[in-house]
Amino acid sequence: MSEFPTFSLDGRLALVTGGTRGIGLAMARGLAHAGSDVAVLGRDPESGRLAVAEIERLGRRGVFVQADVTKEDQVVEAVERIEREVGPIDILVNNAGKNIRKPLTEYGADDWDDVLDTNLRGIFLVGREVIRRMAGRGRGKVINIASIFGGVGMPYQTAYAASKGGIVQLTKVWATEYASSGINVNCLAPAYIRTPMTAAWLEDPERLRDILSRTPAGRLGEPKDVMGAAVFLASDASDFIHGHVLYVDGGWLAQ
Ligand code: NDP
Repeated sequence: MSEFPTFSLDGRLALVTGGTRGIGLAMARGLAHAGSDVAVLGRDPESGRLAVAEIERLGRRGVFVQADVTKEDQVVEAVERIEREVGPIDILVNNAGKNIRKPLTEYGADDWDDVLDTNLRGIFLVGREVIRRMAGRGRGKVINIASIFGGVGMPYQTAYAASKGGIVQLTKVWATEYASSGINVNCLAPAYIRTPMTAAWLEDPERLRDILSRTPAGRLGEPKDVMGAAVFLASDASDFIHGHVLYVDGGWLAQ
């Protein structure tokens, strides 16, 4: 055994929820490049098929699992099926998420439920099912995808920021609960990344200027900017890191 850290994920299996596009797909590709097989979970089979093809192009096994993270029965069955048919999950990237941006006074209770169900209930359900298995094996890496809005506010992010703040807290709880079981639970928290979730929102030139003015790096993030942090938190190199929030934000929160 080397005294130096390794970032290799050879022989591992990762589950990436929402791994079919955007940041999730980039992380799935990054993990595959580092040596991991990857199961991607989402609702749309066509984007799932394309994601699997990208993983396989990197020489790793890719599997698409169709499930809605808000539905308990579908999550339980999906995790059970991956473990039975593909293998034990070593790495969980709890990434599936959504945003509805509106002023508070226009925010419907349905909007609130929709965002909280996906971003918080989904993370809880998938995390619970995977962590119970990791705990039985005494090892595992869990990466919950939060956001800078888990730490700071901005207009129109009522449910989203509440859900991401919840993810940061739930990460800290799971980290303390499972560190002694050999499981690392951490958060990865990006600022604005150019993906299907943000494309329309970033079309407004004034808004884009405002966002860039808050970003010391002077540019938006690209999905590939999140890859390295995901590989690090999934690798043995992060074995003593528990309950950390790793911001990938171009310096947004350094100000
Ligand atoms: P996208 O909208 O591009 O991708 C979202 C992914 O989540 C898709 O794969 C989608 O697949 C899946 N998904 C959504 N709802 C569900 C559901 N109910 N069940 C299963 N899968 C679901 O988003 P991003 O890539 O931009 O965001 C990914 C994560 O990163 C989110 O948690 C987001 O909050 C976070 N984030 C994004 C930032 C950004 O600027 N883009 C910044 C900070 C954090 P399908 O539709 O097939 O189900």
